[in-house]
Amino acid sequence: MRITVLAGGVGAARFLRGLKAAAPDSQITVIGNTGDDITLFGLHVSPDLDTVMYTLGGGINDYQGWGRQEESYTVLAELSAYGAGPDWFGLGDRDIATHLHRTSMLGAGLPLSAATRVLCQRWQPGVTLLPMSDDRIETHVVLRDEEGERTVHFQEWWVRLHAAVPAAGFVVTGAAQATPAPGVLEAIALADVVLFPPSNPVVSIGTILAVPGIADAVRAKTVVGVSPIIGGAPVRGMADKCLAAIGVEATAAGVAVHYGPALLNGWLVDERDKGALDAPELAGIAVRAVPLYMSDLPATAAIARAALDLAQELSG
Ligand code: GDP
Ligand code: CA
Repeated sequence: MRITVLAGGVGAARFLRGLKAAAPDSQITVIGNTGDDITLFGLHVSPDLDTVMYTLGGGINDYQGWGRQEESYTVLAELSAYGAGPDWFGLGDRDIATHLHRTSMLGAGLPLSAATRVLCQRWQPGVTLLPMSDDRIETHVVLRDEEGERTVHFQEWWVRLHAAVPAAGFVVTGAAQATPAPGVLEAIALADVVLFPPSNPVVSIGTILAVPGIADAVRAKTVVGVSPIIGGAPVRGMADKCLAAIGVEATAAGVAVHYGPALLNGWLVDERDKGALDAPELAGIAVRAVPLYMSDLPATAAIARAALDLAQELSG
């Protein structure tokens, strides 16, 4: 079976670990969000691609959910001794090696998709990991407070400001002119099912869908999504802040309505959100309630299994 997954960072990576366990013989292609990418100290950092690569390759700091295990921060400490910023983005020494290698490949003229392929030769994630685009796309956040209106890189809002300043909206620079990376549209077209893991609907999956051509390709397929919202709150992180910024209710049903029945055929909600099963606003989307906490590998594999079962039901 061919499965294509649109992926953000931590939520997606955990789900993918379960998906691999649930469907060991399937061919999985992951289309990763690059809207979170940022240049720091001249280095091209791709947080979501790396979270997926490290998690599936066995190098992730499991407790944090991002970054390398057994990490040290000597380089960052030396930079801050120079007063060189920013100091709010956790760049560990092991992680920096990845960014150095990626940046030197990009500098030599390789596209991001080829550089990602090279990095994955080491990590062997067991999936084909593709960036959504080889073109530079960056999510920026419009902030409006007593200082007036200003726009900052998504990472600055998320990591430095902890999303505490309300966002008035998002601007995905470069998206409108971008094209999907090689293999992206093919992986969607050839898929038996397209899955939305419990990733941020706005700044992870929303950004991937903003690359011209991807949403149309996805719409033609059987699509099953997993709610990142349980009982009205994101399980980890601050996805509710992103939903509020675009006027979407931070509930399992609200997110499904936001995707809409033209895109989404099936939707898994947590048992706590059973109310969504017969919500009239979800007409046209097949909703099932199962436990959605990715507490360990067996629990996560069961979620992936439920998503595949629903996909089979919908396409069979
Ligand atoms: P990011 O790029 O690192 O923010 O990661 P993603 O966009 O892939 O995923 C973030 C989302 O994962 C958040 O909105 C969380 O609510 C969701 N999430 C994290 N852990 C769980 C879990 O155990 N179950 C569910 N259903 N969602 C989760
Ligand atoms: Ca992310």
